[in-house]
Amino acid sequence: MAEILYLVIPCYNEEEMLPITAKALVSKLSSLMDEDLISPQSKIMFVDDGSKDKTWEIIEKLHQLSEVFTGIKLSRNRGHQNALLAGLMTAKKYCDITISMDADLQDDIDIIDKMLEKRSEGCEIVYGARDNRDSDTKFKKFTAEGYYKMLEKMGVEVTYNSADCRLMSKRALEGLEQFKEVNLFLRGMVPMVGYKSDVATYTRHERQAGESKYPLKKMLAFAFEGITSLSTKPIRFITSLGFLLFVVSIGMLIYFVTTKICGKAVEGWASTVVSIWAIGGLQLLSIGVVGEYIGKIYLETKARPRFIIDINLEEENN
Ligand code: UDP
Ligand code: MG
Repeated sequence: MAEILYLVIPCYNEEEMLPITAKALVSKLSSLMDEDLISPQSKIMFVDDGSKDKTWEIIEKLHQLSEVFTGIKLSRNRGHQNALLAGLMTAKKYCDITISMDADLQDDIDIIDKMLEKRSEGCEIVYGARDNRDSDTKFKKFTAEGYYKMLEKMGVEVTYNSADCRLMSKRALEGLEQFKEVNLFLRGMVPMVGYKSDVATYTRHERQAGESKYPLKKMLAFAFEGITSLSTKPIRFITSLGFLLFVVSIGMLIYFVTTKICGKAVEGWASTVVSIWAIGGLQLLSIGVVGEYIGKIYLETKARPRFIIDINLEEENN
């Protein structure tokens, strides 16, 4: 039996793009149904993220036109990540697999075939990753690639150059549901779910209509969110810096004592400078230590699942 696929598409003020997107996706879906790769009950689910334009009217009209279109409307604008999660968690009730994509079709829709192929090999999650960043500006390319490398250094597991275009099975979504945090950075959270996964690459295009809903300010806020909601390394950095400063002050002290013994010291200067560095270092170190505990509290309050079981032989036998 072919599986029921739901395409989850978050939309914010996408009235210009929606008709084009709907047409492209429905033809893709029907060709997949014809090949019997997905169930005829598969649907396209639009999530209206509190749009101020005609987005919801268009979604309702599409739904009246054909059962293949469905949608949910959020009570207000909550941002891309929340809209996407709302869509995934709603779709989970009705389908076997979801594929999330942006409404602007910048992610090549032929990726769906590749993802389904990986799914047939038993993957629970398939990450869509861009093969290159040629369609980006030099600035975006440089900052984005640097950012992914930095995330990696901070101990955040993300698939290089992957955004929020990915396939997730019902099982993987049930895993994701157990992550109760409200600060969402899905591309960093999904890898924590685990299970058999793979990467499918695609070429990203330019936006065809409408404009980007991610201006630089929102992008920076999102990048910062990625670090602070998944890593407590910045706190560790303060602790290390404080320790380093303190060590420097000890070094200075030794240096000044030796110059004093040699009789070349300037009166009163050494004690002032050493104490500035020592106090600065100790203060940073103390803040860092307090921070370490706050970091622990932070992670505890997220109440993430401590494990997710993949296979239980005991249950398989029954
Ligand atoms: N989006 C959303 N809520 C927001 C902002 C954006 O649901 O508050 C959706 C938007 O409609 C699109 C996707 O998120 O489907 C990605 O946004 P966009 O294409 O503008 O970002 P970019 O590709 O420029 O990074
Ligand atoms: Mg886009």
